[in-house]
Amino acid sequence: MTTNILGRALSPADLAASGDFLALTLSHPEHLTPFSCVLTDGTVAEIWDTGVICLTPVQHGKTDVVISSGVHGNETAPIELCAALCIDVLTGKLQLKQRTLFLFGNPPAINAGKRELVDNLNRLFSGHHSKADGEPGWERQRAAKLEQYVLRFYQAGGEGRERLLYDLHTAIRGSQFEKFAVYPFLHGKPWNKTQLRFLHACGVETFLLMQTPASTFSYFGAQSCGAHAFTLELGKVRPFGENDMSRFAACDLMLRALVTDRLPELAEFDESKFNFFVVSRAVNKQTEQFELCFARNIENFSQFPLGTVLARDGAIEYRVDEPGEAIIFPNADVAIGQRAMLLVKPVSIAGQLCD
Ligand SMILES: [Zn+2]
Repeated sequence: MTTNILGRALSPADLAASGDFLALTLSHPEHLTPFSCVLTDGTVAEIWDTGVICLTPVQHGKTDVVISSGVHGNETAPIELCAALCIDVLTGKLQLKQRTLFLFGNPPAINAGKRELVDNLNRLFSGHHSKADGEPGWERQRAAKLEQYVLRFYQAGGEGRERLLYDLHTAIRGSQFEKFAVYPFLHGKPWNKTQLRFLHACGVETFLLMQTPASTFSYFGAQSCGAHAFTLELGKVRPFGENDMSRFAACDLMLRALVTDRLPELAEFDESKFNFFVVSRAVNKQTEQFELCFARNIENFSQFPLGTVLARDGAIEYRVDEPGEAIIFPNADVAIGQRAMLLVKPVSIAGQLCD
């Protein structure tokens, strides 16, 4: 067993008693031999790998739910939220009523207190893990396995069931909107109104509607699995134990209601209660000279006057060229060729929704 960031070591034999699947995962961060156990209410818990637990209640509803956290290892609040949820299910405090797959995406990075060890795991899905040359690092191997686990989970549930995937994150920087969701590109299909209503109840009012394929986990869920899939940015990165979990209470409550099949009546959809954005430009880093021209602690969704220089990359200059254009995910420290910033603009989605 590995000493882990929580200071709580756990062996497989102890899982049922404590329910601490995160501690078990972080005690065996790179590999865990599969095993299964049956909970007191008859729910079958299958551990497929480190950070991968598939829960099948005896009687279950028509929804298959994937809840992931720790795809970026230092994004601790969602990890703590999911760890507590696992404990309550495994110890019988919460009666699971939907098939649920919990994933802790990057256990070695969680132990290291880092976003990633080698590669950004959330840029490796939909086959991108196999596109680079050379010996694949930990994240490339993990992305390939996570794809297989998610496919296996949905396939075992069967066709015709509702598939959901919520990939929980916190952002490196603060945000003008504390919580927001990235809604992956649907290739022209309408956005789902019920999902927007559910996520609004989770405290997510702001949505970035993507218009191109991506290498993210949520795009993989949407495109390759036919799931309603979202990247949820729930707040700001902080170390373990320093999160104000009350800021995640609505999300926690709704996820618990979802997996126990006790969802309350959701408020009707009202576009005026949401902010929708689309990407106007993606800025990729092209040279080592790439620099951002605003304060390092700038918040996501910050806006600037027309003409403001936002970044320089060698001879290239990026300026605000549309009113309302805002920046999101700026990061000058990415590898050459990777996305260093997105520019987004507000849109209306009236007429592009389905139930
Ligand atoms: Zn993240």
